[in-house]
Amino acid sequence: MKKIEKGKPQLFISARQIRKRIDELANQINEDYRDRIPIFIGVLNGAFIFLSDLIREIKINCEIDFMKLSSYGDQKITSGQVKMIKELNCDVKGRDVIIVEDIVDTGLSIKFINKLIKKGKPRSVKIATLLYKTGISKLDFKVDYIGFEIDNKFVVGYGLDFAQKYRNLKDVYVL
Ligand code: 5GP
Repeated sequence: MKKIEKGKPQLFISARQIRKRIDELANQINEDYRDRIPIFIGVLNGAFIFLSDLIREIKINCEIDFMKLSSYGDQKITSGQVKMIKELNCDVKGRDVIIVEDIVDTGLSIKFINKLIKKGKPRSVKIATLLYKTGISKLDFKVDYIGFEIDNKFVVGYGLDFAQKYRNLKDVYVL
């Protein structure tokens, strides 16, 4: 049996702060895609709550799809390898794509996804992430919509897990 690290989660970003920031991001997206019909691509599992809250503040027409990458398993550190578990069902050719991530840490996953989506020849690709670990990820492209920039902390809640637990918490906590 795998050993699960103990420790009480400490409140880090409250549900109220998240709600406020999502409203701001959604307003920006509504404005940026005024005359377009973007496809939101949620990266499972972590982004499912962020995407579902964000999407309900989107006032323009839009579509949604999901993809899933291999996870870290029950580890708190990246394995350094990314694998596709669930592919997209939609055709992104000529479309405006908004990739929705829970958190950008090393940037490995978003690099992989960005490259893959671009192979499908979309009209445009932008990235939205609830959390962005400043100073860790070395990306050679922009992350367009960032909820909160954070330090190198391991966070859980609001869709983010540790060993598949804590996803149901309304706020974001540091373990
Ligand atoms: P990256 O490829 O950018 O290193 O990591 C992306 C994925 O790793 C995220 O989508 C998330 O599933 C997981 N991850 C990275 N940092 C954290 C963290 O602080 N907490 C949790 N729960 N997952 C994380």
